Amino acid sequence: MGASSLGEPATLLVTCGSALYILRVTEASFSVPPSAPASVERAKRELRRQLGDSKLLEAEEAVARYARDESEAEAEPPDVVVLAESREDILTTLAIAERFRVPVTPRAGGTGRTGGAVPVARGIVLSVSGMNQIREIDAREGLAVVGPGVVLADLQRAVEAEGWFYPPDPNSLQTCQLGGNVAENAGGPRAFKYGVTRDYVLGMEAFLMGGQALSVGRRTRKGVTGYDVTALLVGSEGTLAVLGDVTLRLIPKPASVMTLLISFASLTAAAGLVEAATAARLVPRCFELLDRNTLAAMRAEGNPIDPRAEALLLVEVDGEPAACERDAERLAALADDLGALTVEVAQGEAPRERLWAARRAMSPAVRKMAKHKLSEDVVVPRQAMGELLSRVARVSEETQIRTVTYGHAGDGNLHVNFLWDHEEERPKVERSIERLFQAVVELRGTLSGEHGIGVLKAPYLPLEQSPQLIQLQRELKRVFDPQGLLNPGKIFPRVGHGAC
Ligand SMILES: Cc1cc2nc3c(=O)[nH]c(=O)nc-3n(C[C@H](O)[C@H](O)[C@H](O)COP(=O)(O)OP(=O)(O)OC[C@H]3O[C@@H](n4cnc5c(N)ncnc54)[C@H](O)[C@@H]3O)c2cc1C
Repeated sequence: MGASSLGEPATLLVTCGSALYILRVTEASFSVPPSAPASVERAKRELRRQLGDSKLLEAEEAVARYARDESEAEAEPPDVVVLAESREDILTTLAIAERFRVPVTPRAGGTGRTGGAVPVARGIVLSVSGMNQIREIDAREGLAVVGPGVVLADLQRAVEAEGWFYPPDPNSLQTCQLGGNVAENAGGPRAFKYGVTRDYVLGMEAFLMGGQALSVGRRTRKGVTGYDVTALLVGSEGTLAVLGDVTLRLIPKPASVMTLLISFASLTAAAGLVEAATAARLVPRCFELLDRNTLAAMRAEGNPIDPRAEALLLVEVDGEPAACERDAERLAALADDLGALTVEVAQGEAPRERLWAARRAMSPAVRKMAKHKLSEDVVVPRQAMGELLSRVARVSEETQIRTVTYGHAGDGNLHVNFLWDHEEERPKVERSIERLFQAVVELRGTLSGEHGIGVLKAPYLPLEQSPQLIQLQRELKRVFDPQGLLNPGKIFPRVGHGAC
């Protein structure tokens, strides 16, 4: 594992029944032994023979680009990258990889936040980006069949041109791809009203290590035949199967959308609007919250944000035009009652985009605040969001690690970002993350709302899940991938605690 994996040993306290176990997670816990060089060479020779040179990257500079994603995780470059263009290319790669016992890391857009596409055991990175055909949009049934390398924004544009709508919208939509979205069960701002990727996946083609193809799921809206293997594969982070064409359910495109940008003098008041709106049975399609540190970063970049504001909420409603206007008015009135400083309302593409610009400016602005940024995407029940935000502030005060927090407040899904500049601050960052996760579990939340566990959160899984549940999942993985060659080093903690 490369230098920017978790540096210092971390200590985790894990409860199991009435017992308390202490897990010591070291650098070695993450390392997965690479294959023997001779096996890799034989596999490469066979890949060249069966796929041809044009579908392989082997040069140092070329493979180096596949050693990381959009997280802090980084690995040695893979031995070879396969640029798959078809299902046959995937099948060939998986057959050769199993024959020579070489690990395979599937990769789509490479925008993951937890190191899921990072090849921690080197071997083969299997890129599906070339499988970027929208095969079918069935406007009568309301479904689409798409290759795993289709960029999400391209799919959204294509279905909207036909009057349909595919709601999942991770903010990386211009570069992330459907294979990665399904493997991570991606969410996004619109999840509050429309749910996440899982709610739209009807079926898929899945490829197992060794080179076996399975048709999983269905094209119909209903279906309860056998186990729900589709649901198991959605969110499996590339550890069970490589996903090919995916069949997606579409819904009618909403007739009209209105956006509100509301500023508040306190985070509590902003969180109060989310509470008040849900109590009033209003279901906006999104509730994006930005805290004071995020606003400070944006102001530093020249974004004109009311100097009195300590929190911003971006709220969006959709539906029939009259219903939209009524909901927007009710939200504005609730915001007024809570002492909102400003309420801006926009309808129509260009004015709405102007309000969204504030939200989109946030990520690059925060990036510039420090040399390193680690973004957690925890979820707590909505009512516990205020408590979580105070705990984050306390942790930051204690450890002196700066935080900025924003996220999908309607879902209680907050992106807590830890920022630091110097390598020696790492142990304090680890301590902050642990404290955050402990608070989340105490508040009956979950460690990840949408980014998955990947490599970075693997050591913390026992904080949330029992040893028995983790063991059951390990056994499921063995059924799909007996030799543990598909995306090794992901999801499961590699600690020899043997507790419970
Ligand atoms: C600026 C920014 C904003 C983001 N906002 C959001 C957000 O709002 N909501 C959200 O959910 N996420 C968000 N993300 C995280 C990320 O974009 C999502 O997790 C996305 O779904 C990853 O897709 P990808 O194509 O980049 O996948 P990759 O990063 O390439 O891979 C992600 C995982 O999927 C596996 N995988 C990829 N393709 C396949 C396949 N064909 N078969 C099997 N496994 C496969 C990989 O092995 C890896 O484990 C954001 C990221 C960035 C950089």
